[in-house]
Amino acid sequence: MNARQGENSRSSLAFNVMVKPRGAICNLDCQYCYYLCKEQLYPDGDFRMDDDVLEAFTRQYIRAQQVPEVTFAWQGGEPLLVGLDFFERALQLQQKYSRPGMIIKNVVQTNGVLLDDEWCRFFKRYDFLVGISIDGPRELHDAYRVDKGGQPTLDRVMAGVEFLNKHNVDFNTLTCVHAANVDYPLEVYRFLRGKAKAHFMQFIPIVLRDNETGFQEGNALTPHSVTGKQYGSFLRTIFDEWVRRDVGTVFVQIFDVALAAWAGESPGLCVFDGTCGTAMVLEHNGDLYSCDHFVEPRYYLGNIIPRDLTELATSEQQVRFGLAKRDSLPGYCRECSVKFICNGGCPKNRILSTPEGESGLNYLCEGYRDLFAHIGPTMKYMVQELQEGRSPASIMYVIAQQDALLHMRFATARRNDPCPCGSGLKFKNCHGR
Ligand code: SF4
Ligand code: SF4
Repeated sequence: MNARQGENSRSSLAFNVMVKPRGAICNLDCQYCYYLCKEQLYPDGDFRMDDDVLEAFTRQYIRAQQVPEVTFAWQGGEPLLVGLDFFERALQLQQKYSRPGMIIKNVVQTNGVLLDDEWCRFFKRYDFLVGISIDGPRELHDAYRVDKGGQPTLDRVMAGVEFLNKHNVDFNTLTCVHAANVDYPLEVYRFLRGKAKAHFMQFIPIVLRDNETGFQEGNALTPHSVTGKQYGSFLRTIFDEWVRRDVGTVFVQIFDVALAAWAGESPGLCVFDGTCGTAMVLEHNGDLYSCDHFVEPRYYLGNIIPRDLTELATSEQQVRFGLAKRDSLPGYCRECSVKFICNGGCPKNRILSTPEGESGLNYLCEGYRDLFAHIGPTMKYMVQELQEGRSPASIMYVIAQQDALLHMRFATARRNDPCPCGSGLKFKNCHGR
C-alpha cells in the first residue's frame, strides 16, 4: 500500500489532520467541488492561516504523535494560494518542534495551475509528495474543471505537470470519476500514464448530495455523480489493462488497497477501514472537524487555540463519529463476501437501503461487489507470489498466456461451438458474430 493522499490514506500515525491554510478559497470553480461552499461557514473569515495557528498546530500535532514518522497534509480550496513563504515557515516550525530521530513528511494536494519552477524546486528540495487533480484528456477534464470565468483548465494543469516532471517531483494524480469521464476509463488511464507520465493514480468517485446546505443531508445527488455500477465498470476496465502491462510500474491506489486487504493487512485507506475518525480537518482559523467530508456544524470538534488538538481528536464526540461507521453497518454488509476489504465504504455514501429494507447501504455497493469479484482471483495469485518471495508482476506473464490460448480458441472455433469466452452462447451469436 502506498501511503499517498486523496481519500484519507493512512500511515502509522496516531491520527491525521488535513490542513486548509486558505480554507475553501480556490482559484478554480470545479462544478463538482464539495468544499467551495464551506466558505459560507466563515462569513467574516480572512481565509489565511496566521502564524499563531500554524505554530500551535505544528507543536500540538508533532507532540500528539507517538510514532517516529509524521505527515503534514496540506489541502484546500487551493493551498498554494497561501504562498511559498507560508510553507517555508511551516518547515521551519516542523524543525523547531521535531523530536530526535523523527521523520517529517509533507504532502500537498493542488489543482496544479500555480505550479512553476520556483514551487517545484521547493517541493523537490524538501521532498514533498504532490497530489495533482486531473480528470483525463481535454474534453473529460474540462467538462467540470473550469476557472472562475468558466474557462477550461487542462492546458494550465498540464503545464503544472510538466514542471513536476521537469524537477522530478514525486507526484500522484487524483482523478475524480464523474458523469463526464466515467464511460471513458481507458482514455483517462492512458492519458495519465502516457501524457502526464503518472506512476501513482487515484480514482475518486463523485457522489455528491444535491442540496442547498452543502452538508451530508438528503438522498438526492447532483448530475455530476456516478452510480456504483458505473464506477465498478470504470475500475474493472482499467484493472484489465493495468494487470496486462503495468503491474510494478503504475500504482493505482484502490488496487494497492485491495492487494493489502487480500494479504490480510489493514486497507490503509479510511474509506475501507472498519472504523473512521482518525482523519480530521483543520480549517484556516484552527477549527477542527471530524472529517473532510463532514465540515459542518454538527461535526465541529473545537478550536486548537483555546483547546488541545489531542483532547479534541480523542474526544468522545470524535470516537463516536469513528465507531458509527462500524456500528451502523447493515446486516447485508456484515454477511458480504468482500466485507474484509469494503467494510461498507464511506458513511457519506451510505444512502441506499438493502434488499431487506435496512438503511445504510453504500451507494457504490454494486460497483464494489462487481470490482472485487472481478479482481479477486488475480489478487489471490499476486498475494501468493508475494508470500513466496516472488514479484507479483509475474501475473502479466500468466495473463498473456491465458490471452494467447483464448485467441487460439477463437481462431479455431466453429460457428455452432460454445463461445470460448464462456458466455454460454454459441460462437456465431457471441464473439463470432
Ligand atoms: S467519513 Fe470516514 S470513511 Fe468517509 S472520508 Fe471521512 S474518515 Fe473516511
Ligand atoms: S460490497 Fe456492498 S454489501 Fe459488501 S460490504 Fe461493501 S457496501 Fe456492503
